[in-house]
Amino acid sequence: RYQSLAYSRVLEIHKQHLSPVHTAYFPEPLLLHQGHVEWLFDHEGNRYLDFFSGIVTVSVGHCHPKVNAAAQRQLGRLWHTSSVFFHPLIHEYAEKLSALLPEPLKVVFLVNSGSEANDLAMLMARAHSNSTDIISFRGAYHGCSPYTLGLTNVGIYKMDLPHGMGCQPTMCPDIFHGPWGGSHCRDSPVQTIRKCSCAPDCCQAKDQYIEQFKDTLSTSVAKSIAGFFAEPIQGVNGVVQYPKGFLKEAFELVRERGGVCIADEVQTGFGRLGSHFWGFQTHDVLPDIVTMAKGIGNGFPMAAVVTTPDIAKSLTKRMLHFNTFGGNPMACAVGSAVLEVIKEENLQENSQEVGTYMLLKLAKLRDEFEIVGDVRGKGLMIGIEMVKDKESHQPLPREEVNQIHHDCKCMGLLIGRGGLFSQTFRIAPSMCITKPEVDFAVEVFRSALIQHMERRAK
Ligand code: PMP
Repeated sequence: RYQSLAYSRVLEIHKQHLSPVHTAYFPEPLLLHQGHVEWLFDHEGNRYLDFFSGIVTVSVGHCHPKVNAAAQRQLGRLWHTSSVFFHPLIHEYAEKLSALLPEPLKVVFLVNSGSEANDLAMLMARAHSNSTDIISFRGAYHGCSPYTLGLTNVGIYKMDLPHGMGCQPTMCPDIFHGPWGGSHCRDSPVQTIRKCSCAPDCCQAKDQYIEQFKDTLSTSVAKSIAGFFAEPIQGVNGVVQYPKGFLKEAFELVRERGGVCIADEVQTGFGRLGSHFWGFQTHDVLPDIVTMAKGIGNGFPMAAVVTTPDIAKSLTKRMLHFNTFGGNPMACAVGSAVLEVIKEENLQENSQEVGTYMLLKLAKLRDEFEIVGDVRGKGLMIGIEMVKDKESHQPLPREEVNQIHHDCKCMGLLIGRGGLFSQTFRIAPSMCITKPEVDFAVEVFRSALIQHMERRAK
């Protein structure tokens, strides 16, 4: 433990010297000292089961011995080269990463964060298409840099300053909140309780959303567009899933207008969705550009953009793309070890098996409690939407969600939050979690719901 700074001093320093918008999840902020696989330890030695993995980032477990060993080895050899010099680890990593993507996605650009990756993807799309306009969903989160703020359509991140020129939001085909439901239409072991008139093999909701997409194309953007960004499942917006087949049709419409299709795999990539390594594969589409960050480095700051040789050429013939830290040997050593661990420990398969197990258990809680409106997701990317009641779908008031969240923490379980009103609990642990840990987490969550119902009844 770090004895040097008392909890009260940390709070004082935070107030004086750190960004005032860095809000803590809990009234008494959690001060962490150590992590071990899926466990975190605070300054008093209390143990928490980490079911949000540093916001969907620690993909293979905190301080994984193989990843640590790779970092330590490299630490003593060479930290930094900058992209003007070559290093075998960089080249090995680019080869390994590109082997995980289908043809023709074979050219890797290494950067340092998800926002940077999406900034670069925007530039690529514009350089390649010779157009400006880019479409993204309402509710999407693609970064907080001045460029990506245009793509991010979550109100609290927007600034009343000019930004995002050429970026147009379009309606999110959200099965749970949208006007057309879609009870059979999402790719999840758990279907929504929202009724719709679709048959299992015919999604009318999807057709309605495609009409909305066409409407954006004909009313809000130029005749030729640069591209379309989509997360395969929206993370920050509360694990929002689209009707099956939507992305496939949307990609075709974008390409008809000369645009390129970008899959933001920052949260969904690296096996988290279980059935596939990449989220776009679950939609049966082939993007032109894929961006990735977070889980790529298990918490080490690194990110990547992978694209086709043609698009890479369109960018590099127009500019000298340079990035001092992107793809430094430390990051590549870590990234390579992460890929090896995912494979050696069958973590994609574990995401599928343990994620499905958890979803089915949580669906029982949905049926048991009136305030659990929806349980959704795929693999180890799960959302639990809290509502006033199942009929209205109105969000459970924030103070009530806060209390349940806090109660879970007090019982040793850390989960995330998302959605426009912060009404959705998000679960995205390291991909190595086990079924007994899921049993513990679901039991804690159930106890928090029971406590809540008892408080309400008083
Ligand atoms: N894309 C998605 C889908 C994200 O969830 C995030 C981060 N929440 C980003 C991009 C931006 O990543 P970073 O914070 O590393 O800039």
